[in-house]
Amino acid sequence: MRTNPPLPYTPSPFPGELLSSWRKRIAAEYRTSLAYLAQHLGLSAVSATLLDSSLYEADIQRIATSTRSDPADIRKMVRRPLRRPVRNLVASQGPIQYCWECRACHAKATTEPVAIMTWFEFWHIECLHCHVPFSSNTKADLRRCNPAREHPEWFSKIIPIATAGGQRLASFARQPSRIPLSPTGVLNLLSMRLNTGMASVNFESGPGARSWGHYHCVAELFVPGLQELLSENHLVPEIWTSRRPVRLVTARTILLAAMAAFFADARCGFKRITNSASAAMMVVVDRWFNALPTVSREWLAKAH
Ligand SMILES: [Zn+2]
Repeated sequence: MRTNPPLPYTPSPFPGELLSSWRKRIAAEYRTSLAYLAQHLGLSAVSATLLDSSLYEADIQRIATSTRSDPADIRKMVRRPLRRPVRNLVASQGPIQYCWECRACHAKATTEPVAIMTWFEFWHIECLHCHVPFSSNTKADLRRCNPAREHPEWFSKIIPIATAGGQRLASFARQPSRIPLSPTGVLNLLSMRLNTGMASVNFESGPGARSWGHYHCVAELFVPGLQELLSENHLVPEIWTSRRPVRLVTARTILLAAMAAFFADARCGFKRITNSASAAMMVVVDRWFNALPTVSREWLAKAH
């Protein structure tokens, strides 16, 4: 194996940085491109996507030698393979969230863009490095309710539960769970409505403006205190639609907290949902149930 001598200088990677992001910054130091640097070092992968996902062991060794790093540290900077249903919970193009503290640190050290692995992964609700909650990558919209600001005590209580839910999703991403039920399927179930919610006219916003009558969401059954906060706003929206009254990062925290509580006793949780759903919504819940793999259906239907 041909191995080039180490590069004279390389900037240090930031905590949690993706390999491609670091390589791009190294290339920028030498006023060259990522592809040129990869070719110079004899790597099989020349694009950012390939660098982050499909590297051979020989590539890892070459990168480690060229940067005087431990190969184990290089391996940690690469995305590990994910199971299929969870794969689409990782963004491939741009980050879905940021840690503003880390971003400020990066900006002090480099003018190049920096990409941190957890910024792309749906199941992280806080920065692994600074432990501050992640911020949405979209601009703050004051029309959306923000329970972190408006109900801080309640919101801080559900964060540890949501973190546990996120960890469950993260470990499912890499290995099958003991329970034959996919957490992503459960997230879909939890984001459904329990009743249909009638549309009504909202006169305060002028004639013709429509607001939605109160509807209840499945997640409410599992997040203590959520129902009481719902008097003014719908905190758990259908986050996969264009109508998003809360920020995605907030909706996700609520859903992950509900998921952790659901999995504490999933069969009992499912029974609670079927007991509470309106007849119209039971049709939707039944459709969800019937789309599950046989093993999941049999497991859920089994009595205690
Ligand atoms: Zn951070």
